[in-house]
Amino acid sequence: MVRFGPSGFCEEFVKLHSHTEEVPEWLMIHGLDAYEYAFNKGIRISDEKALSINKAFSEKGILLSVHGPYYINLANPDEEMANKSKGYIIDSLKKMKLMGAKYLVFHPGSLMKATRQEAFDMVMKRLKELIVLLDENEFYDMYICPETMGKHGQIGTVEEVAQMCALDQRIIPTLDFGHINAFGCGCLKTKQDFENVFMTLKKYIGERYKKVHIHFSKVMYGDKGEIKHLNYDEDDLYGPNFQYLAEVLKEHNIDATVICESSGAQTQDSVKMKQIFETID
Ligand SMILES: [Zn+2]
Repeated sequence: MVRFGPSGFCEEFVKLHSHTEEVPEWLMIHGLDAYEYAFNKGIRISDEKALSINKAFSEKGILLSVHGPYYINLANPDEEMANKSKGYIIDSLKKMKLMGAKYLVFHPGSLMKATRQEAFDMVMKRLKELIVLLDENEFYDMYICPETMGKHGQIGTVEEVAQMCALDQRIIPTLDFGHINAFGCGCLKTKQDFENVFMTLKKYIGERYKKVHIHFSKVMYGDKGEIKHLNYDEDDLYGPNFQYLAEVLKEHNIDATVICESSGAQTQDSVKMKQIFETID
């Protein structure tokens, strides 16, 4: 199954509404069935609000995922700081249980002054420690979803994320195709390029490559990778092209939630992607 929906409030939504509990109705009107809530700047939501969101989303059958705080950095060489990052992931999951959300997207880490290999090794070490914490907290059916990143100073190539996912069944990839394309300065040009992303996953996690979380938006890039997210109608230069991804999702029977992170037009662009997906035989 492939679900579609926006990340956060789009510009049209905020003209009319201001509460997350109003999102499910809004999505239904647009024929969408997924939504990503952001803890980007902190986990600042009361238990009461979390339960109220849970009720609103479960009543309408909308799949809710959460984007973890931006300051999570599992590559931080400072053990204390890294422990804090692991704590933010566990705290996010605790809140998500109340919200009825099972998928936590997070940015694995930044290189800071380390080499890519050193930073990656750090992330892998911390993820192994996190798996122990997942068990200790009895998070047996919650998923942490490291994201493919767009800037060269960040950990999160497809190959790196695939290796993270090989550590445990509860680690599944967030494939951000705008980021993958930006990191590779426009590397996603053909359908084969999209298929290769899934084949890299398959190499490390076998048939589990068929279950993924996806971010899709057009992303402007320069020689160091990502610059900024764009709306569909602002882009005819950077890409990537959703048509090819849609074909690959259908042919490989991928179970995915496709979250649109356009810059303001997330809902409209989600609708466009869903229409593209549905016109494929
Ligand atoms: Zn992200």
